[in-house]
Amino acid sequence: MLTNILNDINSVLAPRVCFGCNVHLNRGEKLICTICRNDLPLTDYTFNDENPVDRIFFGRINIKKASSMLFFSENGIVRELIHHLKYKNQEEVGTFLGDWYGQILKENKELLHTIDVIIPVPLHKKKLRQRGYNQVSSFAQRLAFHLNTDYSDTFLIKTANTKTQTKKGRIGRWQNIKDLYILSDPNAIKDKNILLVDDVITTGATMEICASVLAQAPNTTIYITSMAVVP
Ligand SMILES: [Zn+2]
Repeated sequence: MLTNILNDINSVLAPRVCFGCNVHLNRGEKLICTICRNDLPLTDYTFNDENPVDRIFFGRINIKKASSMLFFSENGIVRELIHHLKYKNQEEVGTFLGDWYGQILKENKELLHTIDVIIPVPLHKKKLRQRGYNQVSSFAQRLAFHLNTDYSDTFLIKTANTKTQTKKGRIGRWQNIKDLYILSDPNAIKDKNILLVDDVITTGATMEICASVLAQAPNTTIYITSMAVVP
């Protein structure tokens, strides 16, 4: 009751609007309205059948399985959500998506008892200070909660504040990029089943580099997921 009153006061002071269509949100709606929520382009990819996200990594890096929650498009609500998450201080977008996808993924009983640790693609500490949070953390933490496993952002470290986007097949550049990420302690993740998480998979370059670094630890098995994938 008190919460409702406070919410009402809050929505008068700062009316909450849908990220997708800008209508005012009703009580009980979070971040996006029910219509936009129903319109979100879920992939239906889980870690069961082979899917197009798996195929992005074929022949590039040895991962066990890959998946993504949503399809990304340049002018869509998914882009809006991720833009707000990254640049508008709306960290709860990650919580919202992580709670949703976590509930979907935990239906996969095999996965539920397989993953030992969930690791977000890291930000460089300078970028982390600027943004105040890693935009992947809240999503990854909620996945860890639903899959009943650990979350850690201390095993994989980004060493320089540069972008990782690159073209495939340029070996010299690849070597430089590979050094962008390091393991804090390879022994800490040996023998582990790791779920690596990012916001958007486009070319797969960032995931490929991070997964290759995780694979430097002995006997790791790597799974990959993201909030969205560019189809
Ligand atoms: Zn809406």
